[in-house]
Amino acid sequence: MSQIAVARRVVVKVGSALLVGPDGAAHGEWLAGFAADVARMRARGQQVLIVSSGAVALGRRRLGLGRRALSLPEKQAAAAAGQSALMRAWEEALGPLGVSCAQVLLTRDDTEVRRRWLNARATVETLLSLGVTPVINENDTVVTEEIRVGDNDRLSARVAQLVGAESLILLSDVEGLYTADPRRDPSAKLVPRIARLTPEIEAMAGGANAAAGVGTGGMATKLEAARIASAAGCATTITLGERPGPLAALEAGAACTVIEPATTPAAAYKAWIAGSLAPAGALTVDAGAAAAVRRGKSLLAAGVRAVDGRFDKGDAVVIRDEAGREIARGLVRYMAEHAARICGLKSDAIEAELGYTSGPVVHADDLALAAHAPTH
Ligand code: GLU
Repeated sequence: MSQIAVARRVVVKVGSALLVGPDGAAHGEWLAGFAADVARMRARGQQVLIVSSGAVALGRRRLGLGRRALSLPEKQAAAAAGQSALMRAWEEALGPLGVSCAQVLLTRDDTEVRRRWLNARATVETLLSLGVTPVINENDTVVTEEIRVGDNDRLSARVAQLVGAESLILLSDVEGLYTADPRRDPSAKLVPRIARLTPEIEAMAGGANAAAGVGTGGMATKLEAARIASAAGCATTITLGERPGPLAALEAGAACTVIEPATTPAAAYKAWIAGSLAPAGALTVDAGAAAAVRRGKSLLAAGVRAVDGRFDKGDAVVIRDEAGREIARGLVRYMAEHAARICGLKSDAIEAELGYTSGPVVHADDLALAAHAPTH
C-alpha cells in the first residue's frame, strides 16, 4: 500500500501556482478536488497539515498591484491583504466537507529557536487533537529577508519535523526529479526512489532540473526540504500537483519521486534532545525514579531529590542518579525555582504548591536515555 495511505501525519505543501488562477483569483475547482483528498484522508484517521502559499498572489489582485515586480514592503502588504483571502478560499473548500481548519503563521525563528518551537508545537498539537486541519504559511508581515518563492518548501519540511510527520508531499509543477531535463532530453528518466541524497542526486537538481519547477521554488529547494525531512524521519514525495485530486492520484500510483527518511520521527526527536541542546541544569533523582526513567516512564516530582542550575520551562536538563551518573536528558516542564519547590511532592500536591500543574517534571516523550546509561 502507498506510504501516503498509511502515514499517521501528512504535511502537504501547496504552492501559489496551484491555488491562484491566471486571473489572480483562487482556483476554486482545484481546491475542491484537493479538499476531497483531505476529507478522505481524515476519514481514514490520518492527520493532514497544509502548508499553503498564495497570500502574495491573492493580495496583488486585492490591492490592484497587477503583475509588476514588487518591493519587499509591497510584497508584505500584498501578503497581509491576501492571507485572509487565502484562508477564506480554504474555508470555502474544506468547510462543506466537514473539515474545519485554522490559520497558523510561522516564521523561521519559530521553527529554529527552541522555546518558540515548543510553543508552536504545542499549539499545532492542540489543533490536531481537536480534529482541526492547520493551514500554515510563513508570517510574511514580519519577515526581514526577501520573501522568496520556495521558502514554503523549507517551511513545510520544518513543519514536518515540528509535528513528527511520516510523510511530506510537495505538490509541484513537475512529476519529480529527472535524470536530465525532460523537455530537452527525450532519454530523461524520472527517478522514482532516492534512498539517500548524494552529491550526484543534488547535481541533477542543480543542473538538468534547475529550470523545472520555476514558480514553485525549483528542484534545489525541494531537495533541501527533503534533506531536512529525511533527517527528521519523514519521507518526502515530489509529484505533479495540477491534476484534480492529486493525493488520490498519488495513491493510485501516479508518477513521483520519493526521498526516503534516514531515521524515524521519534528517534530524530530523541537525538535532538540528547545531542543538539546544551543542558541548562540538572535534576538528581532517587533510585525508584531512576529505574522508572530507564524503563521509559515520565519523571515525576516525587522522585526528584535535588535541582541544580537556572533553567526555564522547556529547557533541556540532565537527569542523574544519586551517584551523579547521567541517566538521561529531557525537556523540563517547570522552571528551576518551581521544580525545586515541588521536589519530592506527589503529583496531586503540585497545584496546591504552585497554583498550577504542568504534569510530570519531564514527560516520557521528551526524555532521551543516555547512550551508556548504567542499568543498575
Ligand atoms: N509565503 C508566500 C505566500 O504565501 C509564498 C512563499 C512560497 O511560495 O514559497 O505568498
